[in-house]
Amino acid sequence: MSQIKEIKHWIDGSLYAQKAERQGEVFNPATGEITAHVDFATEKVVDHAVSVATESFKTWRHSSLTKRTQVLFAFRELMNANKSKIAELITSEHGKVLSDALGEVVRGLEVVEFACGIPHLMKGGFSEEVSTGVDVYSIRQPLGPVAIISPFNFPAMVPMWFFPIALAAGNTVIVKPSEKDPSATMFMAQLLKEAGLPDGVFNVLHGDKVAVDGLLQHPGIKSISFVGSTPIAQYVYETGTKHGKRVQALGGAKNHMIVLPDADLDLAADSAVNAGFGSAGERCMAISALVAVEPVADELVKKIAERMSKIVVGDGTKGCDMGPLVTKVHRDKVASYIDAGEAEGGKVVVDGRTLKIEGKGFFLGPTLIDNVTAEMKIYKEEIFGPVLSVIRAKSYDEALNLVNSHLYGNGTAIFTNDGGAARRFQNEVEVGMVGINVPIPVPMAYYSFGGWKKSLFGDTHAHGMEGVHFFTRGKVVTSRWLDPSHGGVNLGFPTNN
Ligand code: NAD
Repeated sequence: MSQIKEIKHWIDGSLYAQKAERQGEVFNPATGEITAHVDFATEKVVDHAVSVATESFKTWRHSSLTKRTQVLFAFRELMNANKSKIAELITSEHGKVLSDALGEVVRGLEVVEFACGIPHLMKGGFSEEVSTGVDVYSIRQPLGPVAIISPFNFPAMVPMWFFPIALAAGNTVIVKPSEKDPSATMFMAQLLKEAGLPDGVFNVLHGDKVAVDGLLQHPGIKSISFVGSTPIAQYVYETGTKHGKRVQALGGAKNHMIVLPDADLDLAADSAVNAGFGSAGERCMAISALVAVEPVADELVKKIAERMSKIVVGDGTKGCDMGPLVTKVHRDKVASYIDAGEAEGGKVVVDGRTLKIEGKGFFLGPTLIDNVTAEMKIYKEEIFGPVLSVIRAKSYDEALNLVNSHLYGNGTAIFTNDGGAARRFQNEVEVGMVGINVPIPVPMAYYSFGGWKKSLFGDTHAHGMEGVHFFTRGKVVTSRWLDPSHGGVNLGFPTNN
């Protein structure tokens, strides 16, 4: 067995030396073995990190736009040079296959690239002569120390949705990564330092509810960017706003893919398999409910099942298609949803529970359940695993109604060859991100990422211009400068008197 690592907080540009009162365990999900102990922050440690971030803000906010973008350009180069290493770290703690891990690093880097444009993105407006001799202009300024609390499923990309823009705008940052896979954030902290970011501007605190509560209640923290499950997102939003903070809290999902009768069924089947089982379904944009508008259901289910038989499940470092789930507890919870679906009358077409892999890894095979209805638990709740439910609908209206009646509204997709039907869907659907013949419509960094309904608390989505707005606040200046001819100190201009 390899040596167990110790993962410390990252405060003021170095590892926090003091011994932790509490720690958590980090597993390699493919082997089931503990690979690290991670320190959990107490209120006192949170307080220390916030005071460091507060002190660092005094100078970082006055660093020039050029300096801030230079750091981000250098960070981008370092991330590119090290992306295989980061992918390996992600796979070793999350379990997703290396290509998926690499994919999240690349998507996160798009936000770094967007943030490199901050000199343009933060430009204000100017109105000359709003009254005689009076001008008005607007500026945007950083907030101060900001906190980012991230989930386990994208340990590199989700923090990168926020911190590049926060730093570029002149804020200082504390990231509280998931305690299940904290190493990617630690690696990025070191690269930011190497890129020239001054100590104390980017800090990492590990932990659980104690650390999160410490950040939510601390008066020194000006905003909270949270991504995770809906109950915690709601709690974070309510607690953070009660303590006077700006909060964006992205929650859970149940993403529907509608397949209309005129769709290309091979494209739809390929897409359903990729979007349903990529990263073992542990993606907030994973397709979890496939709505087949009759008469295509039988053929579609057959095509999907055929493709699923080819999915190779195993250790994510060994060139397979799908890795394990993140923890044993989560694997067992996902398997219990399959039991519930079967008990409620769903037809298990492909059964992931039968998968056998040697060792103690947290594996569960891809599962397809047909004849799922809107009343079933597996339809109503987020499963967050490799389980795809098929719901059979008689019409477009019935399919649309399913999506719009659901609690969650993160992503959705429609598959059709009819542009008019697709256009109507994009207009009528009550979901934040919509794909047309695209199963996982994750917006590019210069657009914003976010859902509707119980998938988002707060009104600001992640990255894009909404990210720039979230991490800055506006100020409008109305100024009157008297003309030199007014007769004050003689500067050599001709005077009126
Ligand atoms: P989670 O809610 O369990 O944890 C998220 C963060 O909150 C972690 O940092 C965790 O330490 C912290 N946390 C956990 N329990 C807490 C508590 N009681 N009080 C305060 N903080 C607490 O989520 P997860 O299991 O890490 O991630 C999976 C979830 O994240 C899924 O529901 C998924 O849909 C969601 N997610 C959403 C998006 C999105 O963009 N909407 C993106 C990725 C993941």
